[in-house]
Amino acid sequence: SDSHFPIPVSPAHVDYSLHFPKFVEADNKFIKKVEFADIGCGFGGLLISLATLFPDTLMIGMELRDKVTEYVKERILALRRTSSEGQYENISVVRTNSMKYIPNYFEKGQLSKMFFLFPDPHFKEKNHRRRVISTHLLDEYAYVLRAGGIIYTITDVEELGEWMKSCLEKHPMFESLTQEELVSDPVVELLCSATEEGQKVARNGGQTFRAVFRRIAYVS
Ligand code: SAM
Repeated sequence: SDSHFPIPVSPAHVDYSLHFPKFVEADNKFIKKVEFADIGCGFGGLLISLATLFPDTLMIGMELRDKVTEYVKERILALRRTSSEGQYENISVVRTNSMKYIPNYFEKGQLSKMFFLFPDPHFKEKNHRRRVISTHLLDEYAYVLRAGGIIYTITDVEELGEWMKSCLEKHPMFESLTQEELVSDPVVELLCSATEEGQKVARNGGQTFRAVFRRIAYVS
């Protein structure tokens, strides 16, 4: 239950210097804010790929399962130890329930990218409220994303793919990326190839359904 992990009362109460010690200056000033969030990060494959692609950007995974979170922590620490070029200092993970505590971690407009890769499908109609993309939760995601920020979703469950896309289409604060924008974004191809779940789907020759939307600046 939630009582097993600490819940920061506000983003100002999250000590990100523990997550990113190399980004703390000598006078203990923290020089950067987290910009990317991988929601339900699982085993952390996406973060690890993004770490070297965006070495100056801080990113955090949010994961509900305790053991999986501990595994990702160890995996990142091991990569930091063995990297001769000081890589992987920009990624970390927290154990939390992202459906409840996103605003406890991020300020308004703090994030430039959010990832929802292969989220749990919750097939039964009565469980749709447990889905990580919903009209209500998109309000929260629109709040923590800056104007121009991007939300990436992908799944191998067609019905869930349709659901995520239609929630995003209906929401006044999001617009779809164009085909050209999708092709020129280097992150898009990682959605399938970098995560453990995406690799499993690819090995089994499964189809994937993607929705990538931009947080717009205002409602006209
Ligand atoms: N994104 C990863 C990937 O593509 O390999 C993992 C996908 S896995 C099917 C879904 C993950 O979301 C699981 O690790 C699960 O524990 C996590 N999860 C489910 N609900 C969550 C929640 N409310 N908050 C944080 N993580 C959650």
